[in-house]
Amino acid sequence: ARVDGCSVRDELLRAAVAQGAEVRVGAARLTPGGEVFVHALAGEAPAEGEPWIPAHSAAGVPEEPLDQGGSWRQGAPTARAAEPPVPMGARRFAGEGEPLDADMVIVAAGAWTGEVCRPLGVELPVFPRRGQIMHVTLEGVDTAWWPIVLPRVGPYLLGFPDSRVVIGATVEDVGFAPRVTLGGLDEVIQAGLRVAPGLFNATVAETRVGLRPVYAPGSPLIGPLTGRVVVATGLSAYGLTAGPFTGEIAAALALGEEPPIDITPYAPAVG
Ligand SMILES: Cc1cc2nc3c(=O)[nH]c(=O)nc-3n(C[C@H](O)[C@H](O)[C@H](O)COP(=O)(O)OP(=O)(O)OC[C@H]3O[C@@H](n4cnc5c(N)ncnc54)[C@H](O)[C@@H]3O)c2cc1C
Repeated sequence: ARVDGCSVRDELLRAAVAQGAEVRVGAARLTPGGEVFVHALAGEAPAEGEPWIPAHSAAGVPEEPLDQGGSWRQGAPTARAAEPPVPMGARRFAGEGEPLDADMVIVAAGAWTGEVCRPLGVELPVFPRRGQIMHVTLEGVDTAWWPIVLPRVGPYLLGFPDSRVVIGATVEDVGFAPRVTLGGLDEVIQAGLRVAPGLFNATVAETRVGLRPVYAPGSPLIGPLTGRVVVATGLSAYGLTAGPFTGEIAAALALGEEPPIDITPYAPAVG
């Protein structure tokens, strides 16, 4: 099976739902007091009982184009975006929003965490770092067991089932612009062919793009922001790996329990 950010997320959601978690669809807004309001996302009503499967994440890879109806989602990362993303300031929440009854709130909103937390009166220096990645196939070749190539500098290559090889990824600080660009593809292709010239005749299967959440000081950002809001983000290029453990830490903080590691180095530096 293919493992990517979406499948990891979906499994975690399913596990949470199996344990009785309720999943609400929508864009969440914090009030200055740390209350949460959930706003509908235009054209995106899940079937009853279905868990929330958001169409995007830093890992990119939505299978369907996102709704382009002028809602909050416009700024979200997407591959194959049909229209240019709306700048951050132009986002708006649809409707009044429904209050969410919660004792504690964990904000794990990726690159948007700074914006989501702004109503609390804090400025969190969290920003998006774009990554473009390419999937190619080598028909008839079993690439599933190919070794991972992970140089200290330059592109990495991963073999997957389905004769697929993944080459990635660009590292770009260009703001909230989740677009696959010609320059990005050029960089990935050139670097990939330098390391693996045998891919010259591979079929380009798809290109993907996502926004890694980066905390300016360079570390992850995990800790309480207020008495009722915990923040957990800044995992940059390691969120698929470290995300579940980060979730465990955030859950412990929300429950008032001792986190499994000393989180002092990751505390939010807010005044
Ligand atoms: C090309 C590429 C390759 C990568 N490869 C790897 C890898 O090999 N290994 C690895 O460990 N990591 C990898 N990463 C990094 C990894 O994808 C990220 O670190 C990880 O996805 C971050 O997870 P997150 O949940 O913190 O943020 P995100 O995945 O960005 O999720 C945040 C979510 O919050 C949602 N959100 C934001 N605001 C709101 C709001 N107001 N209301 C409701 N929802 C909101 C967003 O829409 C988003 O779905 C890669 C990233 C890229 C781009």
